[in-house]
Amino acid sequence: MKGSVVVTGGSRGIGRGICIQLAKTGYSVVVNYVNNSDAAMETKRQCEELAIDKNQRFVALKCDISDTSTHNQFVQTVFNEFDSLDALVNNAGIAPRQRDDVIQMSEKSFREVMDVNLVGPFFLTQRFAQEWQKRETSTQKHIVFVSSISSTMVSTNRGEYCISKAGISMAVSLFAARLASEHINVYEVRPGIIKTDMTSTVIDKYNRMIDEGLVPQHRWGYPEDIGKTVQALIDGSMPFSTGSVIDVDGGLHIPRL
Ligand code: NAP
Repeated sequence: MKGSVVVTGGSRGIGRGICIQLAKTGYSVVVNYVNNSDAAMETKRQCEELAIDKNQRFVALKCDISDTSTHNQFVQTVFNEFDSLDALVNNAGIAPRQRDDVIQMSEKSFREVMDVNLVGPFFLTQRFAQEWQKRETSTQKHIVFVSSISSTMVSTNRGEYCISKAGISMAVSLFAARLASEHINVYEVRPGIIKTDMTSTVIDKYNRMIDEGLVPQHRWGYPEDIGKTVQALIDGSMPFSTGSVIDVDGGLHIPRL
C-alpha cells in the first residue's frame, strides 16, 4: 500500500478524478467536500471499488475550506485518522456565481472567490506544513495546488477567478522555497478546459472554440487527465523539482500566431 492523501473538493469533477486515480494506484484518500455529501459518498464508493490493496482506506470529510476557523478541527481529524499523511492536494475551487465585466464585478463576488480559491488553500497548507514540522518526519511529502490556465490567461468577465489563481501560483513558489529543505515538494498543476460541473454552463461556447482550434490537442480535458498528473507527482516522479508548474491543457497555454 502507498501513503494517504487529502484531496480538497474530492466529491466532484477534477477532485473526484484525482481521488479515483489515487485509489487505483494504491493510496488511501480523504475525500473532502463542502455541501454535496452524496457526491462525496459516491467518490468514496468508486474508490473502494477500484482499490488494489485491502489496507487502503477512504474517508469522506466535510470542511468548508474557505472558513479558516474550521481548519484546526479538519487537520486534527485527518492526522488522527491516518498514521502518516503523505500529501495534500488543494483542489477545491469555485467560479464566480455570475460572470461580470471586470469594471462591474462586485466586491462580494471578489471576496467569495478569493476566500475559497486562495485564502482557504493558503492557510490550510500552512496548517499541514506546521503539522508535518511537529512530527519531524524525514519521509518525503508532497503538496499539489490545482490552479488554472487563468493564472496567466485573462478572462475579463471573471477577473476575480483569474486573480485568485494568479495568487495560487505565487503561493506555490513561496511554499516550495520555504519547505524544500524540509522534505516537502510543492507543485502547481495548471488545468486548461476540463469537462466538469464548473464548465457545464459554458459547454457550447467551449465546444465551438475547441472545434475552431483553441486547444492544440483538439479536445476537452477530463478529470482523469489531472488525476494522472497529480498521482505522478505524489508518486515522487519529479524528485528534483519543486515549485514547478505542470500544464495539463492539451497545449492551450502555448502562445501562437
Ligand atoms: P466542480 O466540478 O465545480 O467541483 C468543485 C469541487 O470543489 C466540489 O467537490 C466542491 O464540493 C468543492 N468545493 C467548492 N467549494 C468548497 C469549499 N469552500 N470547501 C471545500 N470544498 C469546496 O469544479 P472542478 O471543475 O472540478 O474544479 C476543481 C478545481 O480545478 C478548482 O480549483 C478549479 O478552479 C480548477 N480548474 C477547473 C477547470 C475546469 O475547466 N473545470 C479549469 C482549470 C482549473 P461540493 O461537491 O461539496 O460542492
